[in-house]
Amino acid sequence: MTTVRDNVDPAELAKFDSLASRWWDTQGDFKPLHDINPLRLDWIRQHVDLGGCRAADIGCGGGILAESMATAKARVTGIDMAEGPLAVARLHQLESGTHVDYRQATAEELAATEAGEYDVVTCLEMLEHVPDPSTVIKSCFELVKPGGHVFFSTINRNPKSFLFAIVGAEYVLKLLPSGTHEYAKFIRPSELEAWARSAGLELRASIGMHYNPVTREYSLGSNLDVNYLMYFQRPAD
Ligand code: SAH
Repeated sequence: MTTVRDNVDPAELAKFDSLASRWWDTQGDFKPLHDINPLRLDWIRQHVDLGGCRAADIGCGGGILAESMATAKARVTGIDMAEGPLAVARLHQLESGTHVDYRQATAEELAATEAGEYDVVTCLEMLEHVPDPSTVIKSCFELVKPGGHVFFSTINRNPKSFLFAIVGAEYVLKLLPSGTHEYAKFIRPSELEAWARSAGLELRASIGMHYNPVTREYSLGSNLDVNYLMYFQRPAD
């Protein structure tokens, strides 16, 4: 029998558990997440006013995005299945004075108890770490109210993304620990859109996230070849 906890890869959780203590080191293993956070938060805020919204952050890790949404006055629930990052997230909010309701749960579990309760659902840099992304996407659809907003980000799957996101980022530039990503789990925008559409979500916008190794800066742009974000809406009833 499959349960709402089946869609979890223990090896992936172990990877994030072992790195948990370094989550908030802005110059450490999670530096790329710290560097991209203002860009992705801005992009979300271009589409949704987070003030007063109820938001669920799926696969929140140590809480980089979750805390920043709470600072933007959203009421945030952050869920993750790895205990280490969640413990770090809970401690960090004491330091930063933000409040996020952190819970150990899968998207499928949260959707079973809080369907239709959220204005916004974010699931960033997480889908490429789960065995079946399509059921996470379906749960995100279930979690938002009709008219609600869902944001995903992940990595495209093609020779260029293999070169940039694995060879470049993990082995040449060493932006991420080697083994962070597995090429076969990368997701093409067309696949993400098809899963989201069959869950009932409508695509509203997409944008690429680019790294310039010379300036060492990230920027948003139209090219979805490597890292990208997608914004969907659940149609109003
Ligand atoms: N979304 C955060 C963290 C990305 S790292 C950010 O972008 O800043 C990916 C996170 O997904 C890790 O914390 C990992 O533990 C979590 N994760 C992986 N599989 C999961 C699952 N099935 N359910 C919930 N969280 C999961």
